[in-house]
Amino acid sequence: MSFFKFVGTAGARFVVMKQLRASGGSWLSTGETNLCIDPGPGALVRCLHSKPTLDPSCLSAILLTHRHLDHSADVNVMIEAMTEGGMKRRGILFAPQDALEEDPVVLRYLRKNLERIEILRENKTYQVGDLSFSTAKRHHHGVETYGANFNVKDRLVSMITDTRFFNELPDLYPGEILILHVVRLKPIGDDPIDHLSVEDAKVIIRKVRPRLAVLTHFGMTMIRAKPWKVAAEMENELGIKVIAASDGLKIDLEEV
Ligand SMILES: [Zn+2]
Repeated sequence: MSFFKFVGTAGARFVVMKQLRASGGSWLSTGETNLCIDPGPGALVRCLHSKPTLDPSCLSAILLTHRHLDHSADVNVMIEAMTEGGMKRRGILFAPQDALEEDPVVLRYLRKNLERIEILRENKTYQVGDLSFSTAKRHHHGVETYGANFNVKDRLVSMITDTRFFNELPDLYPGEILILHVVRLKPIGDDPIDHLSVEDAKVIIRKVRPRLAVLTHFGMTMIRAKPWKVAAEMENELGIKVIAASDGLKIDLEEV
């Protein structure tokens, strides 16, 4: 059974620091291949305490969309767990170049325990087991950041990770299941952190017309507005199924 599980749904600093939502990233499984996406603070603990347990020693790969702490804080301990404390040389790490070079978020001494590291670049396709995914254009997010289009058994799952809105964005992520990192309730013109707002998400969903849109990675303004209410209003307005992820939400990809 293939699924996408939201281990954590926190985005931005305060929600992560106060753990108003968990910040463990996501887990994508084809049933055969397991991918950990953006293991933020607490990812290992959340995976192990998940019901049923998400066992990191069963991971095929880890994907870092970018080096920011809320996406990468647990990457080293997840590598350690995936490689069974370095006893087994296994697993792939997909990461942008700037997560690995100056001031790297991936410890150098752990890298030799990985089967390999693949550098994320624009418009490239990657394969791990029976899962393939493609990057699109680099996001507008300060550090090097890529979203992904995952091919899971004839299903296209698009994940728009952190970015400022730009005009081509909807065309880059045509998934039937569309996951959006919506940090802000309202747009802030000169936002130095470069995140999507609800208004941006509406523009994207309207254009992509997915079978299901899932909002996640919430900042404080979204938490205060109650993400499930925001999603319900969007669904009403757009006539497209929109839900807000909660910590531990599991989407069965074959049932959407
Ligand atoms: Zn983030």
